[in-house]
Amino acid sequence: DDKNHREDDNDMDADEGTEERENHDCCICCDKLSGPSGYGEGLACADVVVQLKRCAHKFHRFCLLEMYKSTHKNESLQCPSCKLIYGEKTGTCPAGVMRWDILSGSSVAGYEGYDTISVSYDIRSGVQGPEHPKPGQAFYTQGFPRVGYLPDTDKGRKVCTFFFVFISSNLLMFTVGTSYTTGSSDVVTWNEIHHKTELYGNYSGHGYPDASYLDNVILELADHGVTEDCL
Ligand code: NAD
Ligand code: ZN
Ligand code: ZN
Repeated sequence: DDKNHREDDNDMDADEGTEERENHDCCICCDKLSGPSGYGEGLACADVVVQLKRCAHKFHRFCLLEMYKSTHKNESLQCPSCKLIYGEKTGTCPAGVMRWDILSGSSVAGYEGYDTISVSYDIRSGVQGPEHPKPGQAFYTQGFPRVGYLPDTDKGRKVCTFFFVFISSNLLMFTVGTSYTTGSSDVVTWNEIHHKTELYGNYSGHGYPDASYLDNVILELADHGVTEDCL
């Protein structure tokens, strides 16, 4: 009983199992768990294997630590195999405003005859907090307010509602860092949940038509626990 208690309190801890020498791959480095981490070759302890407590997935300890260090160090860890979240994944999105509107008479490609829902996010430049890459320095916003478009169908409305649940339950919609697209550092960037930012056309690759978008974004949201059960 006492032991169970301890395990519940420490479910972020991983069980070390150097003796577990299975033939599975580590899904972070893609090398065998029976050998050293593909990223830590030559380093002492590069062959130590750990197992996450609740989902039981195994990784090189080195790989898991490197993954943790390269993402937001917010004391949460997401299993790269099954996406189970250990600790509370809170994110680092600066404060802002989200609003939605109906664009009457405008349709996105593939949903002709339906109006469009625009979901917009406004975030102002500010000073980075302790959760950001350069605490105390400025962060900048580029291209805000940013707008995502959804068809005004039952599924599109559901996704819009899920966006609200998502943004009010965590700080993962945007983050502060370096933009892949522009290369600018200390800027607010999209994070975790994909939006369709083009109403007409698909120049950026983030437009319509995309028949699987609504289903894909529903899966992205479900990865973060946002489902019908939240409504
Ligand atoms: P990023 O490039 O660092 O990428 C982060 C995530 O956002 C990735 O998942 C990526 O797939 C997604 N993403 C990238 N471009 C997107 C787009 N156009 N629409 C929807 N999702 C996109 O993220 P970022 O720096 O936040 O996004 C860069 C995009 O922001 C540019 O493509 C551009 O459209 C827009 N932007 C606009 C202005 C402006 O002044 N209008 C300025 C800077 C950036
Ligand atoms: Zn590995
Ligand atoms: Zn797992």
